[in-house]
Amino acid sequence: MSDVATQAGEILDRLGVADPFVGDGDLVARSPIDGSEIGRLRSHTPEEAAHAIGRAHAAFERWRTVPAPVRGQFVRELGELLREHKEDLGALVSIEAGKIVSEGLGEVQEMIDICDLAIGLSRQLHGLSIASERPGHRMMEQWHPLGVVGVISAFNFPVAVWSWNAALAFVCGDAVVWKPSEKTVLTALGCQALVLEAGRRAGVPDGLSAVLVGDRTVGEVLVDDPRVPLVSATGSTRMGRQIAPRVAARLGRTLLELGGNNAAVVAPSADLDLTVRGVVFSAVGTAGQRCTSLRRVIVHESVKDELVSRLAAAYATLPIGSPLEPSTLVGPLIDEAAFRAFDEALARARADGGELVTGGTRAAVDGGGFYVRPAIVDMPAQTEIVRAETFAPLLYVLTYGDLDEALALHNEVAQGLSSSIFTLDVREAETFLSVVGSDCGIANVNIGPSGAEIGGAFGGEKETGGGRESGSDAWRAYMRRATNTVNYSRELPLAQGVEFG
Ligand code: NAD
Repeated sequence: MSDVATQAGEILDRLGVADPFVGDGDLVARSPIDGSEIGRLRSHTPEEAAHAIGRAHAAFERWRTVPAPVRGQFVRELGELLREHKEDLGALVSIEAGKIVSEGLGEVQEMIDICDLAIGLSRQLHGLSIASERPGHRMMEQWHPLGVVGVISAFNFPVAVWSWNAALAFVCGDAVVWKPSEKTVLTALGCQALVLEAGRRAGVPDGLSAVLVGDRTVGEVLVDDPRVPLVSATGSTRMGRQIAPRVAARLGRTLLELGGNNAAVVAPSADLDLTVRGVVFSAVGTAGQRCTSLRRVIVHESVKDELVSRLAAAYATLPIGSPLEPSTLVGPLIDEAAFRAFDEALARARADGGELVTGGTRAAVDGGGFYVRPAIVDMPAQTEIVRAETFAPLLYVLTYGDLDEALALHNEVAQGLSSSIFTLDVREAETFLSVVGSDCGIANVNIGPSGAEIGGAFGGEKETGGGRESGSDAWRAYMRRATNTVNYSRELPLAQGVEFG
């Protein structure tokens, strides 16, 4: 057994998960650190998945009657357990998703933060009181629990994205059935062990939270089951295109968090010290495998040469290696397919006239992991490959002459997740944030596009899917709205002045 497998086993043990090796398991869990096998699990059958949904539905029928602030106590227990097990869960994220130590811990911190937000929210699930046109009538909105929320998640945020959904759903009175990525099942099981313990402490109904092990076929059970009124799915645009029509066919709701192709505009007045730091973190953090990773720098011609040479110099010093080494800044790609996609995108970019500035090769790291030197490619135009999301540390440089041109390039892509501008010119900054500026769900000034806080609504437009999770009023997606009108008069006036008999 490899060192990482032993480490993963010890962590799972401490989190309360039994041996991750099932003799005849069909689903092999691997660590991208060295490609070694760290678990072998049996996928759930469609019948087992349907059974879990049934149990969750029964749990929901009890949970919805528990007052919301009392439901918040369950999430408080979960937040406490996450604090207690932060190191372990963070290390498991590093082992299974390949994130560097600080990002693995950051992911767990994000879970703790959303728990804090949800606990406060459990006392703030408010509706409106609306003026009625009829005398002696009162009109109001109430928000009620929705039902079983199906969560389908991607490998690159193996636990945080689940928690954005689950913490809100639980205080909103819902049950959650989670189909994590087949590439990060152990992390999900570790997390579920903490949820079960929190549930025992808070006395929640059995089956309120379930994890389904398996690939997309198990996810499809959630997608098609009419007892699941909301499917919240995070992953590629390809996946969103497959599930959205299926959920729509049964008139269910989806909350979609799909691919991004995020850009930073670098204006002539930009503070280049800050820009270089912001660009490098956003482009190479998580080895370019964040939905919000920076993929396109749209730089003014007057500062292009200086920016590119400073970026190349910074890239040359990036420590690449095992994400468990504290000094590493760039860990592995998730698997060989991700490496091939990186390689093919580079070849296509060069065929389109792109000039490789730096990187683009496989980095020599011991073991069977896929490590690459982050690449920068100077492009003569925004060709098809630049408009596609390649989930790897590949940064394209595009050059502009005036802001209108920069905005046109910026908004030309099909995805609309995150964006940023580096400028000290308030007119440019405000234009970027205005209706004629960035068309993304997230638009920043003097910050790269990645690294959102949970207080704001998170999500994107166009092919990113339009969903919003996390802070602000995202909680409404997990509830159903009822408009109530109460007549406390002795008359029965009709709306719009209608007379009837
Ligand atoms: P993926 O689409 O391959 O898989 C995501 C999840 O969907 C997995 O659990 C998978 O089993 C499931 N799935 C795939 N097809 C399905 C189907 N037809 N029915 C039911 N389930 C199905 O994505 P990935 O490679 O794990 O993650 C990377 C992608 O996720 C990137 O495109 C990235 O931008 C995106 N992402 C987006 C956000 C966001 O918030 N917008 C966050 C993280 C990742």
